[in-house]
Amino acid sequence: MHFRGFKHFVGFGLLTLLIVGLAGCGSGTSNSKAASSTVSSKKVTRKATKPKKSPYADWKTVKTVKLPILMYHSISSGNALKVPATEFKAEMAYLKQQHYRTLTTTEAVYALSHHRIPQQKIVWVTLDDSYTDNKTAAWPILKANHQHATINFITGFATHPNHLSLADAKKMAASGVIDFQSHTVRHLDLNELSYADQLKELTESKRWLDQNLHQKTPVICYPAGRANAATSRAAKKAGYKYALSTAPGIATSETDPYNLTRQRVTPGMSLETFAGLLK
Ligand SMILES: [Zn+2]
Repeated sequence: MHFRGFKHFVGFGLLTLLIVGLAGCGSGTSNSKAASSTVSSKKVTRKATKPKKSPYADWKTVKTVKLPILMYHSISSGNALKVPATEFKAEMAYLKQQHYRTLTTTEAVYALSHHRIPQQKIVWVTLDDSYTDNKTAAWPILKANHQHATINFITGFATHPNHLSLADAKKMAASGVIDFQSHTVRHLDLNELSYADQLKELTESKRWLDQNLHQKTPVICYPAGRANAATSRAAKKAGYKYALSTAPGIATSETDPYNLTRQRVTPGMSLETFAGLLK
């Protein structure tokens, strides 16, 4: 190659580099745009197609769900409805030691309505009447054990001194240890009320809990277990999926959903008797 040819070659080469470079810049920009849009569309696609693992994915289908629902009221002492904190503590420790899973209301509703359970040993711990000792005595025990309980809340009593307030309920619900279901507005015997008045008690307490705790309250607990044929209709009409009674027995997925039986825990009960409530 002579000198002139070399100059041409270099010139051509530089020009080519320049063109390629410019084109490269342009395509580089568009490529990076394309790349970023591909990445973002991939992200979107991944989000849209990746199946979100259901919390119930590992639950097993069974013919009949048998769910012992324990019924407590005040965690203190003084009468037949009050279970002392020491006994409650021993009973919760027993459940933990025996590997019972304490279901949330959402889980209990899912289990009963889908005939599915997370494991053989399940229990639903419920406390009626929303006494303040549920916060001071029961909540710390449940929290320490990583257990769960449901408090059946009397919405009209939220400003009464011995009962949990809305602020209490919010704080306890936020801990994930407690959920709150309805125990009506005034804790009246529903079977003595007209259908319209029953419906009002059930609807207003549900609305209060739904709005204040940002939930869809699925469970009503009849005060003193008092209910008549109209009560079930009113509970359904008010939007509840299940109702708790005070009639004894292990609840099952075959039980009338508006009359789930519960096992009453009484003060002074031996652990052996307590264990018998679960079977
Ligand atoms: Zn009650």
